[in-house]
Amino acid sequence: MNHITRLHIYPFTPAAIRRLNDAGFPVIVVTNQSGAGRGFFPESLIGEVHDRIRQDLAVSGARIDAFYACPHRAEDGCECRKPCTGMLQRAAREHAVALAGSWVVGDRQADVDLAHNAGARSIFVLTGYGRGEYEWHSRNWPHPPEFVVENLAAAVDRILERESADAAERDAAHRATMTRGGAR
Ligand SMILES: [Zn+2]
Repeated sequence: MNHITRLHIYPFTPAAIRRLNDAGFPVIVVTNQSGAGRGFFPESLIGEVHDRIRQDLAVSGARIDAFYACPHRAEDGCECRKPCTGMLQRAAREHAVALAGSWVVGDRQADVDLAHNAGARSIFVLTGYGRGEYEWHSRNWPHPPEFVVENLAAAVDRILERESADAAERDAAHRATMTRGGAR
């Protein structure tokens, strides 16, 4: 967006983020903002928007742990512009996050490719640019996302379902190991 007045947070977003907070997931935003590099808006707007998002979410008890923005243009050849993994690598270092166990939720093909490049899993949401990208381009995606869902609330449903299924599987494997150990 090119002005703070264009910021609108979907009504379901704060509760969805709060569920991730409560489940102990770090919630991190990585965003391409080449409009700054192109001079469409000042780079200071990026921080202004992120501060406003923080404040609006805080009212509902939701928290984003960190924001990373790439202000460069595609032709600058930086390592942070999605689908390059620079921002995720930095987030992983600064927040002790394992990318292999992480999820990327996004509305652009670059987000799905980012997840693939970083060894993370991805969920594509149909809000924002999502529905158009999905209808017109998903047939040609080299790496399909793990899930395609209506919005962030549904994405969080999938993440929490999958995480509890994975945890149950780990428990079962652990119990099986213990049983075998006991039999020896
Ligand atoms: Zn960059």
